[in-house]
Amino acid sequence: MKNFTIAILLTAAYLFFSMEVNAQEKNPVVRSNKYTIVIHGGAGTISRELPDSIKQAYLSSLKKALQIGKDILAKGGTSLDAVEKVINYFENDPKFNAGKGAVYTSAGTHEMDAAIMDGRDLSCGAVAGVEHIAHPISLARLVMEKTPHVLLAYQGAEKFAKSVGIKLEPQSYFDTPERLKQLKEYQKKLKEGKHGTVGCVCLDEYGNLAAGTSTGGMTNKLPGRIGDSPLIGDGTYANNKTCAISCTGWGEKFIKHTVAFNVSALMEYKGLTLKQAADEMIYKQLQPGDGGLIAVDRKGNYATPFSTSGMFRGVATSSGTFKVAIWK
Ligand code: ASP
Repeated sequence: MKNFTIAILLTAAYLFFSMEVNAQEKNPVVRSNKYTIVIHGGAGTISRELPDSIKQAYLSSLKKALQIGKDILAKGGTSLDAVEKVINYFENDPKFNAGKGAVYTSAGTHEMDAAIMDGRDLSCGAVAGVEHIAHPISLARLVMEKTPHVLLAYQGAEKFAKSVGIKLEPQSYFDTPERLKQLKEYQKKLKEGKHGTVGCVCLDEYGNLAAGTSTGGMTNKLPGRIGDSPLIGDGTYANNKTCAISCTGWGEKFIKHTVAFNVSALMEYKGLTLKQAADEMIYKQLQPGDGGLIAVDRKGNYATPFSTSGMFRGVATSSGTFKVAIWK
């Protein structure tokens, strides 16, 4: 009887640990119950005079997105799944500049960029200039998982999407009156380009980091322009040795300063903390008004610096933090 009980216990332990290993095939590690998720819905000129109903609508969407990611992580899901599903939610919400609700180019069209990165082994995937994809972040993940490449653009990316069974949407799917108004106002020079890119970074219970960013880019951009979001190391980066980062703001500036990679490099090569490294890039290397970023490190510390008037953002952790904010 005693031997029988020992055998049952050993089998149960084996099953438990093999399940954990299956969840994280690439890098089997023991599951802790510590996780952190940080999200953003874009940095930019966000007036504090925002009507209360609009403000509440943004805060409510941020809470919903955060809850989706938190639930995945709390059940032992992976950081990659949480990043993708949170961004899918934003891509469906026309208030945010990603998927439906993407800004207009100067030609009145929509061209979207996205990237996702797995901090376990630096695998990553990205798409740029896609015009008919409802969920660019999911296509980026498929580029990572099903091709030997990192970045696919324009028709090539959409051909690949078709080959893996993704439905192409007409351009009208991405139209929203609010973004059209922004384009018209921008073209009349009444307003500066509005942001609203979305991003998510997570540390999961296996100690793995992941980052993702999805965007329609900047209002009135030239057709063919690619921003920082789909460029690994510029707008998106994740490395288990250091941190996971998603940027938002004036893409050209983030590309010139290789912002996401530099945050990681400052930590790895110079021993800076996450906060010191993120602040260095946003407040010292970039200029006021250029944008912001969200980041989480391997210990679950997070940072959300921005130099614009506001950044839609939220944080949830396994120790009970759950908060969303727009301004400082
Ligand atoms: N960084 C994005 C881009 O330049 C825009 C944004 O974050 O609002 O495409």
